[in-house]
Amino acid sequence: MIGLIFVRAIPERIMDVHNKINIFENILKVKLLTHEIFNILVFTQSSDFMSLSKTISEINNIDGVESITHAILFGPEGRPDAATVLKDEKARVTLARYFDVIRDNKPAKFLIAKKNKANFNRESSLVELWRIHDQLTEEFYILEREIDTHEKSLELLKKMKKPEISYLDLKIEIAKRILTSCILCVRRCGVNRLEGELGDCKCGAEVVLSSASKHWGEEAELTPSGAIFTMGCNLHCRHCANWKTSQWIKKGEVYSEEKMARVVENLRRSGCRNAFLTGEPTPWLKHWLETFKHVSVNTPVVWNSNSYYSEETSKLLSGFVDLYVLDFKYGSNKCAERISDAPKYWETCTRNIMYGKRFGELIVRVLILPGHHECCTEKRLNWIANNLGKDARTNLVLLYQPTWRSSEIPELQRRLTIGEMERTVELAEVIGLTNLIK
Ligand code: SF4
Repeated sequence: MIGLIFVRAIPERIMDVHNKINIFENILKVKLLTHEIFNILVFTQSSDFMSLSKTISEINNIDGVESITHAILFGPEGRPDAATVLKDEKARVTLARYFDVIRDNKPAKFLIAKKNKANFNRESSLVELWRIHDQLTEEFYILEREIDTHEKSLELLKKMKKPEISYLDLKIEIAKRILTSCILCVRRCGVNRLEGELGDCKCGAEVVLSSASKHWGEEAELTPSGAIFTMGCNLHCRHCANWKTSQWIKKGEVYSEEKMARVVENLRRSGCRNAFLTGEPTPWLKHWLETFKHVSVNTPVVWNSNSYYSEETSKLLSGFVDLYVLDFKYGSNKCAERISDAPKYWETCTRNIMYGKRFGELIVRVLILPGHHECCTEKRLNWIANNLGKDARTNLVLLYQPTWRSSEIPELQRRLTIGEMERTVELAEVIGLTNLIK
């Protein structure tokens, strides 16, 4: 991985800072951009996020450095790990089906869901729809196993007759009804979004997109991802890195489900490994299900979420999501309420992660916050080992930086120290986590 670091130094110290940066052994080149804007551009060659983070932290501690930002270089030359991860034994075991779908050796779940026949009446009660749904979920996984064991499973699926009403249609019908009294997440606002009422997330009847692009900045196995970023979020993390989209500061664009489907297809055809549903996809679940009714290319659905959604949403995701990439932000409800206004965070998040493990493949993203080792880091890593297994694919996210309203939380006004990063990695090793993403 190649890192780009932009350093802004105070004018009278700029040469001093420049010389000090040169001493770090993993820095390839230091370039003084211009004395007028006092910026230094640093190229680093790091084998993993950890050493990149260390470099950033070291530079940050030099006297005279005013601010520092970094970026991962885009493009295949910047992410050789995106190719090597496909041969990594641990990744291959954990993400076996996902890897098969990205290679078109197996069909994505939504394609199977379209062939799974459902019998329901549009007049049926919601209770009745859920009963049918739960039964069809069991049938779905039996069908998936049968298809997966077939040598040419994609061809087999294509030959199967498309039912008049499918398991995917049933999910859409349930999600539509939920929107009339929204309980997609644990806030359970109960607003009628189809009539224009807005709940806590301020997401309405029509899906609003912030961006859609081929993205090179996620975990190696996801890269390049077909990232589709929606507006709005049901959490309000003071440290949100995407606050302009999550809190509706930026303006998005309304898309129809058919248009979203064309975006998904075009990204896959342009070489993306997946459809990476991000921003926060939870409030838009109905729209995502409906989008994939119109998608005909084989692409794995990756659900990248804050994990703060209802059990009903978890159930609708089964038989639809191929790979869950779930945030695990806090180890205590007290911290979650204080920093993200998120009551019942722990029980919600752990329940949804368990659903992800049961119904698909899973990557857990553990955001490490400064000053939260005992209350959050220890508790989460132990829970992962005890409940998901020591071989759970886990990404320790060590790149926290203060942003948006983090100044309201005293301990969140700085980056992690090198000591905190090392302590986190050591703890993961002591606990015995064996499948950490490098
Ligand atoms: S998704 Fe939005 S409207 Fe629905 S319950 Fe959650 S916060 Fe409320």
